[in-house]
Amino acid sequence: MLKIYNTLSNQIEEFKPLEPNKAGMYVCGPTVHDFAHIGNFRTFLFADLLRRYLKFKGYAVHHVMNITDVDDKIIRKSVERGKSLRDYTTIYTDYFFEDLYALGAEAPEEILRATDHIPEMVGIVKRLEANGHTYESEGSTYFRINTFDGYGKLSKVKFEGNVVGASERVDSDEYEAKENARDFVLWKAAKPGEPFWETELGKGRPGWHIECSAMSMKALGETFDIHVGGVDLVFPHHENEIAQSEGATGKPFVKYWVHAEFLMVEGQKMSKSLGNYYTYRDLVEKGYSARAIRYLLLSAPHHKQLNFTLEGLRGAESTVARLNDFKQRLTEVQPEEGSTPAIARMAELSLKRFEDAMDDDLNAAEALAAVHDFARETNSSMASGAIKSEDKAALLATIDRFDSVFNIFGEAKKEMLDSEIQALIDERQAARKVKNFARSDEIRDQLTGMGIILEDTKDGMRWRRK
Ligand SMILES: [Zn+2]
Repeated sequence: MLKIYNTLSNQIEEFKPLEPNKAGMYVCGPTVHDFAHIGNFRTFLFADLLRRYLKFKGYAVHHVMNITDVDDKIIRKSVERGKSLRDYTTIYTDYFFEDLYALGAEAPEEILRATDHIPEMVGIVKRLEANGHTYESEGSTYFRINTFDGYGKLSKVKFEGNVVGASERVDSDEYEAKENARDFVLWKAAKPGEPFWETELGKGRPGWHIECSAMSMKALGETFDIHVGGVDLVFPHHENEIAQSEGATGKPFVKYWVHAEFLMVEGQKMSKSLGNYYTYRDLVEKGYSARAIRYLLLSAPHHKQLNFTLEGLRGAESTVARLNDFKQRLTEVQPEEGSTPAIARMAELSLKRFEDAMDDDLNAAEALAAVHDFARETNSSMASGAIKSEDKAALLATIDRFDSVFNIFGEAKKEMLDSEIQALIDERQAARKVKNFARSDEIRDQLTGMGIILEDTKDGMRWRRK
C-alpha cells in the first residue's frame, strides 16, 4: 500500500482516499509572467510522478492545476509590453505547457485560470464574511487570522500576539492597512491604472491565496485527497488556503499535503545574479535532452533537496541513452520459443522491489535502482542467450510498467514498413498545407532519425532509405 509523508500530520501515512479507487489531487500551478525554471519543474514533474504512480496503483486520478494569471508582476509586465492581461499571460501559459509536455508530463485532467474564477472567489469571501473571519480596510478585504483557531497547523509556525515588527513581514501581498501584519488580503481594492473586476466586494482584484481555495474546491469538492506544491508554499500560501477554505466551509480542506523540496543548482540557491538560473529552454540550448532533464529532476526523492549540476545532467544523459539502448536491444533480440522461469521470476521481483520503493513515500532513488539492476540482469541474460520468446514479452512488459511511472526509456526504434513511411510522408504534406510546421518538422526529424531521405522532385515527394 502507498504510504506518503503528510506535512499536516508530520507523519508518513497510509494513503486512504475519500472514495475508493479514486484520487483527487490539486497542484499549485505556475504564475505565468516568464518561462518556468527548473526549480518549478522539479515540483511539477514530482506531481506528474505522483499522478502516474497513483494510476499505476489503480486509482482513477483527477488532477487539477491552476494558472495564476493575475498578480503584481504580471500586471507590471503586461503594461510594459502593451498587452492585455489575458494576451500577455496566454503567451507564457502556452510556453509553460510546451515545456511541461516536452519534459514528458501527462496533461492534468483540469487546467483552471484564476481570472476565470472571480465569482467563485467572491463567493468564498462572502462566506468568510458571514462567518466573521474578515474585515474591510480602505476598500480591501482581509482575513483576520486570530479568528481561525487552526492557523499554523500546517507550517507549525506559532503565532503569539498581534504585533509583528516590520522585519517579520511574511506576506508578499503587502498592504499597509492591515490590523495585524500576518492578516492577509482576500480582495485588493483597485489601484489607478490596474485591471479590476467590479464585484460585490467592490472594484478590485483577488489576493493570490484565494484563487487556490476557489478552484480546488470547485473542481474537487470542499474536502479532497491530495494537495501538492513546492515546500516554499507551505507558509504562508498553503496555511492561508486552509484558513480560507475551512473558515468558509467548516470542513477539513485537504487530507494529504505533499510538498516537494527545494532544488539547488551547483550547491547554491538558484538565482539570476549567480549565473546558475536555468529554464528548461536554457538547458535545451546547451544541448541537453528533455529526457535527461526529467531523469535528473526525478532521481532524488521529493522530500530531499536536489543538487542539480551540469555534471549530473551529463551523467543523466548517458543514463537515459543506456536505458534506451537497452530497450532497443531487447526489442530486437530474436529468441527461441519457450521460457526460462528464472527470468520471469527476476522480472517479477524487480517490479515488486520497484513498487515497494515507490510505496515508501515515493522513494524514487530506490525505485530507479531497481530499474537499473533489472536492466543489468536482463543484459547478462541476453548475452548468455537465456532469454526465450515468453521471457522477452514479460521483460518488455516490465519496462512498460516502470515507464508508465517514470517515462524515461524513450521509444525503441523499429523498422518501418514502406506503407508506414508513406503514411508519415502524407501526414507531413497535410500538416504543411495547414501550416502546422511543428508537426511537419517533427515528422521530418522522425524520418531522418530512421535513416529515411526525402527528396522533392518535380513529380512530388520521393523517399529512399540511406
Ligand atoms: Zn496555490
